[in-house]
Order: sequence, then C-alpha cells, then structure tokens
Amino acid sequence: MTLHIETPLLASSAMGGKNGQTVWLKMEALQPNGSFKLRGIGHACEEYARRGAKRFISSSGGNAGLAAAYAGRQLGVPVVVVAPETTSERARELMRREQAEVIVHGASFSEANALALSMVGEHDAFIHAFDDPLLWTGHATMIDEVAHAGVIPDAVVLSVGGGGLMCGVIEGLRRNGWDKVPVFAVETDGADSLAQSIEADRRIELPRIASIATSLGARQVSQAAFDWTHVHPMSSMVVTDQAAVAACIRFMDDHRLVVEPACGASLAVVYAGRPELAGFKNLLVIVCGGVTATVAQLQAWEGTLAAS
Ligand SMILES: *Cc1c(COP(=O)(O)O)cnc(C)c1O
Repeated sequence: MTLHIETPLLASSAMGGKNGQTVWLKMEALQPNGSFKLRGIGHACEEYARRGAKRFISSSGGNAGLAAAYAGRQLGVPVVVVAPETTSERARELMRREQAEVIVHGASFSEANALALSMVGEHDAFIHAFDDPLLWTGHATMIDEVAHAGVIPDAVVLSVGGGGLMCGVIEGLRRNGWDKVPVFAVETDGADSLAQSIEADRRIELPRIASIATSLGARQVSQAAFDWTHVHPMSSMVVTDQAAVAACIRFMDDHRLVVEPACGASLAVVYAGRPELAGFKNLLVIVCGGVTATVAQLQAWEGTLAAS
C-alpha cells in the first residue's frame, strides 16, 4: 500500500500528432491531493513514521504542505504546517480540511521556514518540499509506472521549482535503464533559478520570485538538482507567465482538468511546438498538477497578463 495512486498515462490527441510524435501525459494532477507531491512526501512520511516520528512539520503553504497534511492524516500522525502570510485562504482551508494545524507566520517563505525549523523537536520529522532523497525515491515511482505500461519515452518534459520532481524523475529514468533519455526542465520567467544556475555554472539564488507560478518559486534549486545538470542529458527552458496561464486554459478545454501555471509551464513548451522537442517520437510530459489555482484565478491572470 502506498499513499499515492497509480495515475493514467494518456496519449494526447490534442497535443500530439505533429511529425508523427506521440505526446504521453502522466496525469499526476489526479493524485488524491492534486499533485505529484504525494508520491515523494507520502514515501518520506511513511519512512519517518516507521522510524518513530510522532509529528510532521512542513513550511510549505502549497502542494507540499497539503501532501504532508494528507499523509499525516492517513498515517495517524499530527501535522503542523507553518505557512507564510502570502498563502491563499484556499490553500489554508485545504490543509485544515486534512486536519493539519496551520500556523500563518512571516511575510515570506524564509520566515515561515525558520519558525518551522525552530519547532522541530526530537520526535518530529521535518518534511522538506523538494530537498530530501526520500522524496526523490518516491517521485521516481511515476517513471516505474511508465515502464510497466510498456511506454518507452525518448524525452521527458517537466517543471522545476526546487528540483525535487526533476531529481525523482531522473532517478526513475536511471533505475529503469533510461540513462540517456533527456529531460527538458521548464521554469517560468522570474522563477528561473535552474536556468540561471546552468547559465552561470554555479547554483545561484534569485533575490526574489517574480512569477505567478508560486509552486516553482524556490529561490535556489537543491544541490542535487544542480549536480544532475552535469551528469544527465538535459536542457532548460523558460516560458512567460502568460504562456503558462494560456496553456492551463487550453489544457482545460483539451483534457477537462484544472492545473496550476507551475504545470502549465511544461504544457506551454509542448503547445508552442518548441523546435527542441520536434525530433522525439514518444514525448513524456509530467502533468504535475497543483490545486492552488481556480478557474476564476486562471481567467483573471489571463486578463491582467494580457494587459501588462
Ligand atoms: C512542487 C511543484 C512543482 C515543482 O516541484 P519541485 O520539486 O519543487 O521542483 C511543480 N508543479 C507543481 C504543481 C508543484 O506542486
């Protein structure tokens, strides 16, 4: 038994078909709390509970906090989420619905994170949003499912925040013998900490996040994610917020599913028919999901971003 579920792998007739390309969608948006996060965080929480943790502490006001809340409830372990003031009322409500204690503290993530870390006692486990090998091993199961389905991808498109998804997908590719399958790592402009680190060939820290794709808003990617850029074949791509939101809206019509701009970023490079992706026959796109955007919010962004 795992906390996450096996998700559908769909060949998208709306997105594929050009140059004989099949676009495979790994539908992580259909996880119980709407994002891939449950794979890694569920795995980490199970492991920490097995090692005796009596409480889980998270500092994410987004999908990671929600996954921790869900995992804790399923495992019967209380969860505290310290979320920054910027966390939407909707996200707070979703975490409370999973019976997490939500403490709202600090103007930004770093202040919330500092309080969360200060609360971690001997019997607590701190649940990081992206930088923990247990998370990556859990995320990697999505690639095992692709292999079991008999689909052999020749490239993978995914979104990057702090790089936990990327580390997990690469771990999954490599444990299935797909060491040479390239990864296209997509970020939004203003949350492009990986793209800028590759450019500078050192792990840079963004002074601030200037993108609506808050789930990609890690100011610095993990060391492990940066290290993979020197080991695994990969390229980085950056899209505008406007393109990410437009992709979310198009995806609603094509696949009847609401996802965050963080996920829309990956969809955007496929919809745009980026030339770098043209040569691949079986393109695997991780539909990472996310619950913090509503239809009304996507439409409001579409309006304000078009006007700016
Ligand atoms: C967390 C998240 C990401 C980014 O994942 P990282 O592991 O931080 O790179 C992308 N999309 C969604 C919907 C997320 O919740």
